[in-house]
Amino acid sequence: MPFAEDRSSEAEKGGPVTQKDIVRYLLEHDRSVVTSLFARADRVRSRFVGSGVHLRGLIEFSNYCCQDCLYCGLRRSNRRVKRYRMLYAQIFDVCRQAKALGIKTIVLQSGEDRRYRVRDLCGLVTDIKKLGLAVTLSIGELSYAQYRQLRLAGADRYLLRFETSDPKLYASLRPGRTLAQRLRCLSWLHKLGYETGSGMMTGLPGQTAGSIADDICLFGKLDLDMIGIGPFIPHPHTPLAKARPGSLELVLKAIALTRIMTSDTNIPATTAAGTIDPRGREKALRCGANVLMPNMTPPPYRRLYEIYPDKVCINEGEFSRGAYLARMIRRIGRTISSDYGYRKGDR
Ligand code: SAM
Ligand code: SF4
Repeated sequence: MPFAEDRSSEAEKGGPVTQKDIVRYLLEHDRSVVTSLFARADRVRSRFVGSGVHLRGLIEFSNYCCQDCLYCGLRRSNRRVKRYRMLYAQIFDVCRQAKALGIKTIVLQSGEDRRYRVRDLCGLVTDIKKLGLAVTLSIGELSYAQYRQLRLAGADRYLLRFETSDPKLYASLRPGRTLAQRLRCLSWLHKLGYETGSGMMTGLPGQTAGSIADDICLFGKLDLDMIGIGPFIPHPHTPLAKARPGSLELVLKAIALTRIMTSDTNIPATTAAGTIDPRGREKALRCGANVLMPNMTPPPYRRLYEIYPDKVCINEGEFSRGAYLARMIRRIGRTISSDYGYRKGDR
């Protein structure tokens, strides 16, 4: 059924879109409707967050994990992974290089690796802050007290995807974990004053259009600052090895609808979108995304942080203004943002 453009005059401004509308868009095959959805999301992006693309330098500092998520190549049951931990001095060195390249935010990401003591991570965060960089953490579920310590040490942002808003699907994909606890963690992060990011995967086995629409509605309710959406990509050494990967079309629709729903959030063009399609990130930037995450993990480790196979960043060189991602940004008529890219303006 055709979607009346004017029906979404609300959405044109950014703002509420109904769950039913979202489902219809997710299932829509008519090219002209999908093209106009993407164009609308691009206009909302332009109006609310402008043409700048924020760069967040990603350091994947440990691939040890005590969790056993069925979808992830780093799950603890995957004995084939060669595990590594970066030393603080190595991580700090990469931060210095990132700063020299003009990057303003460092994202420290890892599996849930209990070997790093929170007290030591706090010291690292404080040292990185002294370089004048914003620090985003993406290290999984911790206690309220631990999130608080890291916040007091200077961490600015935290990424914790809820992965799927369907509690049954969540429990089946993350053994021993609950959606309720994930959402509790997000509310703690919010309360502690972190810029809070969440997100989900599209194309998970057992996921429906209705469930993705619920995810997008939940983004709207959670008042998030950052929202990461990527396609599920099966890893050969996980129980989901034989599952089908998520499609680019579905992830682009989810990004576009999320932009329309949330207006001014920071939305990355994810590496996973770039992995399933060589132009995936560029297409995501054209339908709502405004962030790129150049991978700064040193090459020997980058290959070992294999949450899914053939990550597109494996062979991308160090980020520099002349490099691939910068050319992509220029090619689509956008600019590299020179500010810190906080959702509510620089602090
Ligand atoms: N361990 C932390 C956590 O789970 O929040 C942070 C690192 S984890 C590798 C970062 C994200 O990778 C997850 O939130 C999940 O959405 C994504 N991911 C894991 N396995 C994936 C897969 N097979 N395909 C696509 N994305 C995946
Ligand atoms: Fe560990 Fe995160 Fe992978 Fe789950 S998604 S196995 S928590 S690294």
